[in-house]
Amino acid sequence: MEKNQLLRDLPKIDELLKEDIVNNELKFTMRTIVVETLREAIDNYRELILSGSIDEYSKENILKSFLELLEEKKGSKFKKVINAAGVIIHTNLGRSLLAKKALENVVNVADNYNNLEYDLKKGQRGSRYSHVEELIKRVTGAEAAMVVNNNAAAVMLVLNTLCKDKEAIVSRGQLVEIGGSFRVPDVMSFSGARLVEVGTTNRTHLYDYGNNINENTGVLLKVHTSNFKILGFTEDVSLEELVKLGYESKIPVVEDIGSGTLIDFSKYGFTHEPTVQESIKKGVDVVTFSGDKMLGGPQAGIVIGKKVYIDKMKKNQLTRALRIDKMTLAALEGTLKYYLDEKEAVENIPTLHMILSQKSDHKKRAQRLKEELESKIKNFKFALEEDYSIVGGGSMPTEKIDTYVIKVESDKFSPQELEKKLRENKTPIIIRISNNEVILDVRTIFDKDFDIIVNAFIFLD
Ligand SMILES: *Cc1c(COP(=O)(O)O)cnc(C)c1O
Repeated sequence: MEKNQLLRDLPKIDELLKEDIVNNELKFTMRTIVVETLREAIDNYRELILSGSIDEYSKENILKSFLELLEEKKGSKFKKVINAAGVIIHTNLGRSLLAKKALENVVNVADNYNNLEYDLKKGQRGSRYSHVEELIKRVTGAEAAMVVNNNAAAVMLVLNTLCKDKEAIVSRGQLVEIGGSFRVPDVMSFSGARLVEVGTTNRTHLYDYGNNINENTGVLLKVHTSNFKILGFTEDVSLEELVKLGYESKIPVVEDIGSGTLIDFSKYGFTHEPTVQESIKKGVDVVTFSGDKMLGGPQAGIVIGKKVYIDKMKKNQLTRALRIDKMTLAALEGTLKYYLDEKEAVENIPTLHMILSQKSDHKKRAQRLKEELESKIKNFKFALEEDYSIVGGGSMPTEKIDTYVIKVESDKFSPQELEKKLRENKTPIIIRISNNEVILDVRTIFDKDFDIIVNAFIFLD
């Protein structure tokens, strides 16, 4: 049929609203959603006609499309995606994946009433923090501990408790912005602390701190420069020196360690990354870190250190606003349990396992995926290559982890087009483009998802 005629014959919304199928939906679905979806279905067909993709259709086609679109709308927008980018702690993709015990704990606690704030021994009100406090103390060696929603909240709570209307002395080289949303200076001003920047971007000396201490000084703050490293002509004050200065001037030393690794990565062949335990051992008064970075747990902010300071934070009303949820607590407890035995931790916590897994294992896995792709797909070329993964999440910024990747070549799609197509897959596949080539890094892909990747390529083939 002629294009104009086809366009003229497109049904109107009012007409479709009289159809039984639509009326059925109207019984329970919000009318605005039904109308909006009908419009989308009609618009889609209009475009198909205009582009010449179809030269006939029926009202039933449009109604079927309407039902599909409606189904999609009612489904979850929050989806599983496949991380083929090789960035292990990918903030945009949800950072750390939870370990099995953490997941089991979440389900058990969320699916049942529980002792969140109930002391089962005494039969009276208990503390929600008690479930993880002992565990954190044991694992980190700290005197006391508490947890809040995330590390940004932890920093804010610490400064608000110890440094409100007072000065926090921090090195200029540590005034970092993390992932565009966490700026040390901004968080500090929200907390009511006044920032005193000392030293220069690349060099700060102990006397820079010392010269600025006065009766208004609240804390000496050290911030771990998670997502960048200043190389070359640099000088930084060591934690030991800062702790000594704090002790002598009776001013608490606070360290925002950011990623918060609890295991010594140098044992596994990586460059040494300061651990949480080391900071405590060196005598830092208060240390804060994230739950979902190197720790490999849920989003949380962990505050540890001397009991006098932690007790003050527990009494701060701000704590109530930053209160951690029961599901998070359950996940955190489940994750921390593994750390009682480091071997268990590195085997079972996905973030640690992915960082420490061997290149040779990934070679076999990449080969398997490549063979499967090659056996089913004609119009793409797949090549096995050595490359590297990164930790991400502002952790271990200079560490490159050797890995194997599959390089994808296509005559049909540019790398950018292919990236988009894979991202738009039913289960989105997030790849990385490197040197204008599409790369699938198997380090962050699970074996169970190989089929989804193969099917996505079959669809594009
Ligand atoms: C990541 C990070 C933060 C923010 O932690 P969230 O848990 O994301 O709130 C703060 N400080 C440092 C040094 C970080 O690396």
